[in-house]
Amino acid sequence: MDNEKKRSASFSKGLLQSGELYQYVLETNVYPREPELLKELRDMTATHPRAIMATAPDAGQLIAMLLKLINAKRTIEVGVFTGYSLLLTALTISEDGKIVAIDMNREAYEIGLPVIRKAGVENKIEFIESEALPVLDQLLEDPGNENGFDFAFIDADKINYWKYHERLMKLVKVGGIVVYDNTLWAGSVAMPEECTPEILREGRQRTLEFNKLLAADPRVEISLAPLGDGITICRRMH
Ligand code: SAH
Ligand code: CA
Repeated sequence: MDNEKKRSASFSKGLLQSGELYQYVLETNVYPREPELLKELRDMTATHPRAIMATAPDAGQLIAMLLKLINAKRTIEVGVFTGYSLLLTALTISEDGKIVAIDMNREAYEIGLPVIRKAGVENKIEFIESEALPVLDQLLEDPGNENGFDFAFIDADKINYWKYHERLMKLVKVGGIVVYDNTLWAGSVAMPEECTPEILREGRQRTLEFNKLLAADPRVEISLAPLGDGITICRRMH
């Protein structure tokens, strides 16, 4: 088994007590409400060798609700892949909404793009092919972007999460929301290191460090929801 598959096998069932329970949630609550084109994009992604990277649909459902609750208009997406969370966001925000979507690799985005076009929401997306950090710094050079965003979804290189957080605490307005994905890292955050499969160890360490910093950050209210691979919802309060 290659590494990606091993990781996939270890957490594709979600974090709940049993795979059956996770399947129950998906089949009764998530899939029946999933927009058709989002399902189409999910199905197209399923055959991709790195399909495991796509945002879990149950986490996506909560993200959509958060976007609606705060009536998000301007959002940031770090880590696009084939575009599941991006299309979800584009379908959810208002007609005049705009998403700055950053990924250092455009190839996977091209796979989902026909579905995004079919959904008629490409006009809401500014895709930037780049490392995320310099783009966030560039956004901050324009004072108009300070406190200029309502929402951000962060789902790329975990090693930079805290650096993203520092930028987002300036870009996202007070009362705005930042969601970080994979904050339970296949449940490994609660495993002793020696029992953690080698493939998860590095990510586990980074996740532990990030979660600790976030929990001590007085700028945000937080809630770690055990959906998908764990998503931490932060609301900027100062
Ligand atoms: N949210 C996506 C999944 C993202 S997977 C979905 O719902 O499908 C992580 C993505 O982050 C990959 O596409 C990878 O190319 C991108 N990535 C990794 N490191 C990055 C970096 N430093 N800057 C920008 N993108 C990065
Ligand atoms: Ca993810």
